[in-house]
Amino acid sequence: MSKRDYYEILGVSKSATQDEIKKSYRKLAMQFHPDRNPGNKEAEDKFKEAAEAYEVLSNDEKRAKYDRYGHSGLRGGQDFHSYQNVNDIFSHFSDIFGGTFGGSSIFDDFFGGASSQRGRQKQSGTPGSDLKITLKLTLEEIATGTTKKVKIKKYNKCDVCNGTGAKSSGSFKTCSVCNGTGEIRQVSRSIFGQFVNIAACNNCGGTGKIISDPCTKCSGDGRLHTESTIKINVPAGVFDGSYMTLRSEGNSGKNGGPSGDIIVVFEEIRHEYFVRDSDNIIYELNISYPEAVLGTEVEVPTLNGKAKLKIDPGTQSGKFLKMREKGIQHLNKHGAGDQLVKINIHVPKNINSKEKELLKELQKMPNIKASE
Ligand SMILES: [Zn+2]
Ligand SMILES: [Zn+2]
Repeated sequence: MSKRDYYEILGVSKSATQDEIKKSYRKLAMQFHPDRNPGNKEAEDKFKEAAEAYEVLSNDEKRAKYDRYGHSGLRGGQDFHSYQNVNDIFSHFSDIFGGTFGGSSIFDDFFGGASSQRGRQKQSGTPGSDLKITLKLTLEEIATGTTKKVKIKKYNKCDVCNGTGAKSSGSFKTCSVCNGTGEIRQVSRSIFGQFVNIAACNNCGGTGKIISDPCTKCSGDGRLHTESTIKINVPAGVFDGSYMTLRSEGNSGKNGGPSGDIIVVFEEIRHEYFVRDSDNIIYELNISYPEAVLGTEVEVPTLNGKAKLKIDPGTQSGKFLKMREKGIQHLNKHGAGDQLVKINIHVPKNINSKEKELLKELQKMPNIKASE
């Protein structure tokens, strides 16, 4: 069968920018994500097809080859992978989706951690739940990134029984309901034939074992509700409302079950005088009319202390002066935004008689009149 055109697969034009390609791929990946389409072979194929197209078009060199020679210009396995296994797509693209982000990939965050679940081994015990915390950050902290220590109450593995819930390794007996298999098979018949449904045993939680002598510290739960201090490495450039996932740092599971995640939602604290515009910082500066006309040098606050700013003679009201790279560091790429200083010319409301006299004098001067 002939291969479909990569641009057609991603639904973008031949002149699409990398941004458009990425956006389009994200949309498709989300739509055909196997976790959203369980058992749907067509969706899985589309998911793989989009991954292959994205792999080529997101790389300028491969894209150029493809533009020139089409599919025949690319070598499988080297220029692109014909994905057989969906898991390979996750491992392959975790870095393409914006790189790692505080230990987890944007890809994971993007799918709400769904892709991470599939990588988990089938484990005994009941999985722990996720925890969500809101982390308030100042613009100064966002500008350079920061490390925060947060105290939270969560379920942690019991240190006495190491999470098993049993007093000792001999404190177990075989579950009588499932005879130690941890599974319950239910056979049902219908006109289409016989169905076998396998479910985890409720009695033992799928472990096949029952604790005969529970740990005294955690009463057999395998975990304790205690206060923990967690360290959060916040990368520079995060946005209000964005979040990151701390894998397996949430509540510990029961009886040795896997831990949940901690989802950290960032909240930007409103700054006293800076306004954020993407990675740029806007600051409004009042200067006097003579300063605007004659020019001057002033000190302005920045996210990293005070800095000098030169105001040229004849600077107009409303003009933006750029202080290069004094803004917020970009997330996942080098460089930083700028500080943009908006010039406001201060018009005094109260003046004394001397000032009034001088202004009246000034008003008569040939270059002072507002231009028509
Ligand atoms: Zn214990
Ligand atoms: Zn059982």
